[in-house]
Amino acid sequence: MRDTRPLLLNTDFPPLQRTALTTLQVNLGYLCNLSCTHCHVNAGPSRTELMDMATIELVLEVLREKNVKTLDLTGGAPEMNPHFRYLVSEASKLGVEVIDRCNLTILLEPGYQDLAQFLADHKVTVVASLPCFSEQNVTEQRGKGVFEQSIDALKILNEIGYGVDKTLPLNLVYNPNGAFLPPDQQKLEAEYKLRLSEDHGLAFNQLFTITNMPISRFGAVLLAKNGYEQYMQLLKDNFLALNLDTVMCRTTVSVDWLGNLYDCDFNQMLETPMSVPVVGSASGLNEMIVSDGLRHLRDLLAMDVAGYSIAIADHCYGCTAGQGSSCGGALD
Ligand code: SF4
Ligand code: SF4
Repeated sequence: MRDTRPLLLNTDFPPLQRTALTTLQVNLGYLCNLSCTHCHVNAGPSRTELMDMATIELVLEVLREKNVKTLDLTGGAPEMNPHFRYLVSEASKLGVEVIDRCNLTILLEPGYQDLAQFLADHKVTVVASLPCFSEQNVTEQRGKGVFEQSIDALKILNEIGYGVDKTLPLNLVYNPNGAFLPPDQQKLEAEYKLRLSEDHGLAFNQLFTITNMPISRFGAVLLAKNGYEQYMQLLKDNFLALNLDTVMCRTTVSVDWLGNLYDCDFNQMLETPMSVPVVGSASGLNEMIVSDGLRHLRDLLAMDVAGYSIAIADHCYGCTAGQGSSCGGALD
């Protein structure tokens, strides 16, 4: 599989700095029951990387000590990490908002039938991928049978109050099935609500539209089809400077399954660690440089990341194109 990383590093993307840390986005490992074509972490059933208990305890310590407001859990299928339920229970005791990025089908897997109720009991916000309301598009992206299973899982979530009860938010994620930008988020949300309600009697709260990043599996597909340059040009032609204020890396730290820190999960996949300040450089001024070693959750306990430079590259144009894109959908 060819890699877009060397191409992305030669960038003219504007510099970005962090503000206060509000969200810890934690990747619990690459194990997943699915293996989607657009997956930017190349997750799948044969992956063995999983966050261990010692690192889970460190996550909880950071939440406590740094007064982090939101814990955003990703994977793979984060629920497949054996420590998932412990982490969720302890984080919710701290009053932290927990988000589970759920692929829906996991709710139907053997051994996970009580998962939906567990999430409801802990008031976990469910963010679920449903790349389209049409069966054909979902099948193309996620495989045969995934659409029907997703609908069944959404029914289970609705039955226990998700998407219906105000305290149980159910948000869906759309990403384009190809090298184009997502349509207007509000309009697509209205269309999703209509179709899912009329066709399947389903309800949900918000739709998040997310732009495909020219990295990992999708980046390799672009290269294989000679579409990389055209897609990058599309992202650059639609650059909106206003989006620089709200890109998610300004307030979020991304953590990999080993506890290493990144500015976002895209940088995590590109293996580009967080930048750290070097005090007293050769020029006599404080400078920001890309860290020489990976920063770890342990270091985060002693760091105030506000003001740190963010490690940017050309894929950042994926976050600023058009209405903008983040793990919470279009940027405000
Ligand atoms: S469900 Fe999500 S994590 Fe799993 S393979 Fe698909 S995109 Fe990747
Ligand atoms: S890809 Fe997006 S979230 Fe990541 S560093 Fe670039 S602008 Fe920030």
